[in-house]
Amino acid sequence: MASYFDEHGCNPLPRGEAPDDYLHFARLILHGGYWQGMQMEYSHLFGEKPPPPASKTFVNTLKTSKVTENAGQCAVCLKEWVKGDFNTLPCKHRFHPSCIIPWLEKTNSCPMCRHELPTDDEDYEEYKRQKKRQSDREAEIKMLHNSMFS
Ligand SMILES: [Zn+2]
Ligand SMILES: [Zn+2]
Repeated sequence: MASYFDEHGCNPLPRGEAPDDYLHFARLILHGGYWQGMQMEYSHLFGEKPPPPASKTFVNTLKTSKVTENAGQCAVCLKEWVKGDFNTLPCKHRFHPSCIIPWLEKTNSCPMCRHELPTDDEDYEEYKRQKKRQSDREAEIKMLHNSMFS
């Protein structure tokens, strides 16, 4: 007798693996913009999924500069600056290339100020775009309100 799985032409999930229905559902909510009405954050939609790494293009095009004076310390390894190379993020924080590159391969924000950097994750980028539109709209409403009542 053929098993259920043979008849349905699919394979049972390996032990410990959840079906990705939830992921599809989370994407539907995200791309449809429904999460805003539900007051949901990205972390609520995608659970424990950590923020995606910084975009590869971004990491590859980070410019390296030379430290010419000894000033402060690298926030990742806490070593004083000595002469040598460093990378500056758009937020103006600077780090040793050997400290910041592995960091950006894991997450997409500055270790100092959490300034967000571009990612290659489409879901996350869509979330950021929608969030920005939402805050732009709120700012507009505020401005309109102020211009009407002041
Ligand atoms: Zn460092
Ligand atoms: Zn920063």
